[in-house]
Amino acid sequence: MDRRGFLKGVGASVLGAVVSPLAAAAAEERRPNFVVIFADDLGYGDLGCFGHPTLRTPHLDRMAAEGAKLTQFYSAASVCTPSRAGLMTGRLPIRNGMCSDKRAVLFPDSGGGLPESELTIARLLKSKGYATACVGKWHLGHLPQFLPTSHGFDYYYGIPYSNDMDRTAGAHRDACIDPKVEYFNVPLMRNEEVIERPADQSTITKRYAEEAVAFIKRAKDKPFFLYLAHSMPHVPLFASEDFADTSLRGIYGDVITEIDWSVGRVLDTLRAEGLAENTLVIFTSDNGPWLVFKEHGGSSGLLRDGKGSTWEGGMREPTIAWWPGTIKGQTVITDMASTLDVLPTFAELAGADVPKARVYDGWSMADVLKGKGRGRRNVMYYYRGTQLRAIRKGPWKMHLYTKTEYVAGKVEKHEPPLLFNVERDPSEKYDVAAAHADVIADLKKEIAAHEATVERGPSQLEIPLKKA
Ligand code: MG
Repeated sequence: MDRRGFLKGVGASVLGAVVSPLAAAAAEERRPNFVVIFADDLGYGDLGCFGHPTLRTPHLDRMAAEGAKLTQFYSAASVCTPSRAGLMTGRLPIRNGMCSDKRAVLFPDSGGGLPESELTIARLLKSKGYATACVGKWHLGHLPQFLPTSHGFDYYYGIPYSNDMDRTAGAHRDACIDPKVEYFNVPLMRNEEVIERPADQSTITKRYAEEAVAFIKRAKDKPFFLYLAHSMPHVPLFASEDFADTSLRGIYGDVITEIDWSVGRVLDTLRAEGLAENTLVIFTSDNGPWLVFKEHGGSSGLLRDGKGSTWEGGMREPTIAWWPGTIKGQTVITDMASTLDVLPTFAELAGADVPKARVYDGWSMADVLKGKGRGRRNVMYYYRGTQLRAIRKGPWKMHLYTKTEYVAGKVEKHEPPLLFNVERDPSEKYDVAAAHADVIADLKKEIAAHEATVERGPSQLEIPLKKA
């Protein structure tokens, strides 16, 4: 019910109770807005404020200076589709079929997507009267029943899957490293309609920013949730004229600079509209850098490996949370957290109930963001497809299997497992398993307890598209 309807209904029925509906309306008004800005394949080392020496990100640096940097924040998986499913649902993708050992992500010839039975952040917040929009890459199914508009978003504008798909030219690597817009016949959609094909990727980052700003201005009288998921720096890389050849870091730097500019557009709009102090903005990425693309891929900084792997570089993301007046500026949060924690966090802050009858894999970050407590997450699971390859509990990370992805080679099984103290050794250089048999035994117990909660269903990623 909108606020006017609420006032009319209650005000008319309760004689003399003028104050209470107004107070209730005011409380409604105080529900925070939420913005998630999600980069694609951005590395832990790719932002100025996370230590990159030649990449300039002044808007993200300012966001971090006014808010909090989260330095031990994980995506739900090391590739796009499962990672996004985890963010949207607060549940590991192993619980809802959004992962596979045969196909790492959804493709244009996929017939599956995020099941309707899953509750997304958008649908959860809609139950509390939020206006919702998804701008950018979705990658949780491109058929109508799986699109954002079927999952609680009032509005969608974007490329529904990866920007390197629907390729019309040459080998994937060549087309990505020396790209032209027409090499990738990806659709640009508004709600359920394709409005441009191929999407002009050279202006897509800019257009996503303008769509995001327009939504904020449209929605500002209600609480709102904006999910702004950039298509880049996933290859192929395109920057608009204003940003091309502006960075010391080459085209990758140009792309990041443009994304950084778009973050500035969003935050400036929130400031100008007087919404900054009532809006929580989280910036992060879906997975680590695609290292085989060399200069066209990012850097995981001091972390090991990148996209696709369950080493830290595959899933630990450069993350910033901003909420002026609530999150203290210049904060560095070293507590463990994850995209899986976003749904429970928003639920708590919006006063929405999360269904009791399903297993969640996240904990609210509300207290730790407000500086009122420690993070509630003490464990992280690292899946590749359906295989649990590693676990972290406290400072200890144990690898049962490892593999560098996108290059030849087999999955390596470790028995005894590898063990790293990733707080002392974030680069995972020094295996200390031999000295800590007790830790390994405890982590194995933790895995057994976790696996007892997992019901593996059929994979959505293996469902083929039905021919019309
Ligand atoms: Mg990605």
